[in-house]
Amino acid sequence: MTSATRAPLETFLADLQARLQSIFQSLYDDRRATRRGMPTDFLDQALQSVPLSVFIPSRFGGRGQHVHECLALLEACSYESLPLSLTMGINGALFLQPVSRYAEETVQHEVFSRFMEHKAIGGLMITEPDFGSDALQMRTSFRQVDRGYHVRGTKHWGGLTGRADFWLLTARGETERGDLERSISFFVWDKSIGGIDVEEYFDSLGLYMIPYGRNQIDAVLPAERRLSPQTSGVRMLLDLLHRSRLQFPGMAMGFLRRLLDEAISHTRSRRVGGRPLADYDQVQDRLAALQASYTACSAMCAFTTGIAGVENDCSTAALPANTIKSVVTDMMQSGAQSLLQLVGAKGYRLDHIAGRAVVDSRPFQIFEGSNDILYQQISESILKSMSKLRESNLYRFLRGFDLTVRAADYFKSITDFTLDPDVPQRKMVELGRAFSRIITMQMVIDLADRGFRRDLVDNCLAILTRDVKALLASFTDPASAAVVEDYRDGSSWLAALANS
Ligand SMILES: Cc1cc2nc3c(=O)[nH]c(=O)nc-3n(C[C@H](O)[C@H](O)[C@H](O)COP(=O)(O)OP(=O)(O)OC[C@H]3O[C@@H](n4cnc5c(N)ncnc54)[C@H](O)[C@@H]3O)c2cc1C
Repeated sequence: MTSATRAPLETFLADLQARLQSIFQSLYDDRRATRRGMPTDFLDQALQSVPLSVFIPSRFGGRGQHVHECLALLEACSYESLPLSLTMGINGALFLQPVSRYAEETVQHEVFSRFMEHKAIGGLMITEPDFGSDALQMRTSFRQVDRGYHVRGTKHWGGLTGRADFWLLTARGETERGDLERSISFFVWDKSIGGIDVEEYFDSLGLYMIPYGRNQIDAVLPAERRLSPQTSGVRMLLDLLHRSRLQFPGMAMGFLRRLLDEAISHTRSRRVGGRPLADYDQVQDRLAALQASYTACSAMCAFTTGIAGVENDCSTAALPANTIKSVVTDMMQSGAQSLLQLVGAKGYRLDHIAGRAVVDSRPFQIFEGSNDILYQQISESILKSMSKLRESNLYRFLRGFDLTVRAADYFKSITDFTLDPDVPQRKMVELGRAFSRIITMQMVIDLADRGFRRDLVDNCLAILTRDVKALLASFTDPASAAVVEDYRDGSSWLAALANS
């Protein structure tokens, strides 16, 4: 154990924060955010105090995998840099936690000692060029050979492409009939094995620090490098993804706090029309919404702490995991958009935090479950529970459901209707947005019980209530416009002028 991993959490975080601030000052100049990749010594210095030890069991010298420590580490990093926090999140939730839950003891020993002593980093490859949202259809395959498993396929968008020392590879077994098993298997690859070639690096829109690209895999892995599911491969995948989604608020927390600090400081100092921006009512509305996101994210962190431990099976936690991931990433993006609006043209410079925040936070709404799909799944899950209970009245259901019981009364009059389970997909998505914000409100109410500031809680509940009411009003509106694909014919405004 190093002194960093023995230190009390406050000391550990304060040291890390000071180190990160100094690294960003010394290794980067003012245009740091506009450069791709990491400067040569960046990771070496950032990993000096072994921050990833929070994700490593204490019997391997780590800090013991306490969820609040994992979230606090992600928060400390994302206040300084969202890409850095995502790098830690990838290593923790997408690599170290699954290894600690499912890998053999010898593999764990090898992996954790490389992370603790040699600053190794790892990532996860699921997505393929033809299979993203429908990852279960992936074509990367494996078959048993003398020395273990031969894995072949193409993966893209794995965070830390070309840079990671370890990868968690996902693949489907080849059957004797020549097709692929339904189940997904995981393998722990490391550089010494070889057989992963980067075919192309992508010019990503944001997150410049993290390399992405397309990888060709043709590798033979020793038998012990295959993870052992406790039940099935698909459940193992769900457990991994849900635990990761539940921990998104860690990455969001520092990011939202930074946006709020930047927004308050800018609107206090910038004068327009002879008064500070912060004096304008519309500006106050934006600041209040940003602060509500800060409060909601704090509530999610507290909630996650109670359920996302590696000792728990998160495969059945779809509803809270999908709620937390989709709501908090929407908040990250709308908070970044709001800061850019408030900062004005200066924020549109490539090296300004407001513009960077917009592009860096955008893919959080896409990866690890596209938000549109997650919202639909949230509605499906609620409708399934209603059907099980033979309850069709929405208010009565929300009042009796454990994740909404304390927030239901905010919406008594507008949810007191019979919910038709047979609604089009777009309505399911809208309903999911509303449900997930009601669930978030309950997390905020629970946070208040733990002594969180009442004024922040009240403001947050007021803003979320407004959002949910707007979403439910839109849900009950029957409009269902569809795209006209051959729309050019008869749709020229110039021709319309000539006709009139
Ligand atoms: C910055 C970044 C980092 C990433 N990191 C990783 C990583 O570390 N490891 C990894 O394996 N992958 C990673 N990914 C890949 C990511 O997980 C996929 O992009 C994601 O799963 C979506 O897959 P896709 O891009 O193929 O989009 P598609 O599956 O083609 O979906 C595109 C869009 O279509 C819509 N859509 C799809 N299905 C439906 C449906 N059923 N109903 C309604 N709408 C639908 C949604 O709006 C969706 O966003 C990363 C991606 C990005 C951008």
